[in-house]
Amino acid sequence: MSATREVDVLVVGAGPAGLAAAARLAAAGVGRVEVLDREQEAGGVPRHCAHGGYGTLLHPLTGPAYARLLITAAERAGAVVRTGVTALDWAGPLALHTVGPRGPETIGARAVVLATGARERPRAARLVPGTRPAGVYTTGELQQAVHLYGQRIGSRAVVVGAEDVSYAAADTVRTAGAAVVAMTTDLPRARTAPARALDTRLRRGIPLLTGTTVTELVGHGRLSGVRVRHHDGRTATLPCDTVVFTGDFVPDHELARRGGLTLDAGTRGPAVDGSLHTSRPGVFAVGSVLHAVESAATAAREGAHAAGAVLERLAGAERHEGVPLIAEPPLCRIVPNRVTPGDRLPYVLRTATPLTRPVLRVTQNGRLLHRERRWTPTALPNRTLTLTAGWTGRVDPKGGPVRVTIS
Ligand SMILES: Cc1cc2nc3c(=O)[nH]c(=O)nc-3n(C[C@H](O)[C@H](O)[C@H](O)COP(=O)(O)OP(=O)(O)OC[C@H]3O[C@@H](n4cnc5c(N)ncnc54)[C@H](O)[C@@H]3O)c2cc1C
Repeated sequence: MSATREVDVLVVGAGPAGLAAAARLAAAGVGRVEVLDREQEAGGVPRHCAHGGYGTLLHPLTGPAYARLLITAAERAGAVVRTGVTALDWAGPLALHTVGPRGPETIGARAVVLATGARERPRAARLVPGTRPAGVYTTGELQQAVHLYGQRIGSRAVVVGAEDVSYAAADTVRTAGAAVVAMTTDLPRARTAPARALDTRLRRGIPLLTGTTVTELVGHGRLSGVRVRHHDGRTATLPCDTVVFTGDFVPDHELARRGGLTLDAGTRGPAVDGSLHTSRPGVFAVGSVLHAVESAATAAREGAHAAGAVLERLAGAERHEGVPLIAEPPLCRIVPNRVTPGDRLPYVLRTATPLTRPVLRVTQNGRLLHRERRWTPTALPNRTLTLTAGWTGRVDPKGGPVRVTIS
């Protein structure tokens, strides 16, 4: 029989999104704000990203330094951060079964914020055939092994993927003292900044095999190589003892799914309105669980934004659900997925195909609400696109869905 306890706001996940939400809520004087994380240390993904790339342009930080900053801010504001505690399932509309060092416990709240992050699809989910040897990682597993536990990973690695996170994985492999034999992608080019791709290839001597698919893992006990197929049909075996499957993130949406929350088909995370309110009253969602994966600054901004909406709810404000917001192909997703007049949170989108000089258009029932030319010359898959929210005041709350197109 588990004990039952009540808090004011329960935040599940102590990454940038959950910590930012907790910091704002606690600073606003909400009674007990409790943040749970299943890991032994709070901070989420940045905790094991030893590279820079966090913080701001003026104050760049490594991942662990950024994580410490957010934890300190949340705790100083008065939030209680509890680690080693996993939220297992729902015990009611606003209550969760948890298990932690104190054993099982049921925690009820006046509002719940889901900030459970995202996970990379492992080798099995990518349906890569072959044996099941040691030496097969996702980026997260690799970074935890190297940066948190100081483990040896092997001596020759193949990195599967060629996006930002893949290059971060290649850096981690080198930090661990291993060589990157090759990076592979089934796409025609890398999906990172051209300068980064060039630097990796020329200065670090890591070849990028484009148009190349990993077709099989080879080796008994320990990995001994990966078989690849080029787009022209040629095949080869790359000898290696380590392979890292990078990118290909999916939201960690298990709690949302178990709770019967509406999921968005484009993101596979919970569907949310402009306040980041899910389909269940009192349950909010923020960060990578909504869109796997954008920057930590985006996750933290959403945490702080949702906190504002939680405060309004606790003060008894009425909820406006708004109308659906639909991203038309080649756009493949947009967050938030509903819109109400007056929403202020910028939208994050992704395109499925590359586009030059992209222009975004927002319409409702054929009426043009907004047109926005992107300042970047191209829009690329796996790169964030944003859409400002200044047009939402023109939305008819009784009209049909609002559509976003790109050309
Ligand atoms: C390899 C890699 C490199 C990156 N590099 C950068 C970078 O340089 N700059 C940048 O801005 N962004 C970077 N990002 C993205 C950035 O880390 C994410 O945007 C950010 O971590 C998202 O924050 P979050 O709070 O939504 O999720 P997360 O950081 O994933 O945190 C979610 C937390 O929820 C916890 N959790 C999940 N389920 C449960 C449960 N049931 N019970 C209890 N706890 C649970 C998890 O343990 C985790 O701690 C990188 C991401 C990766 C994967």
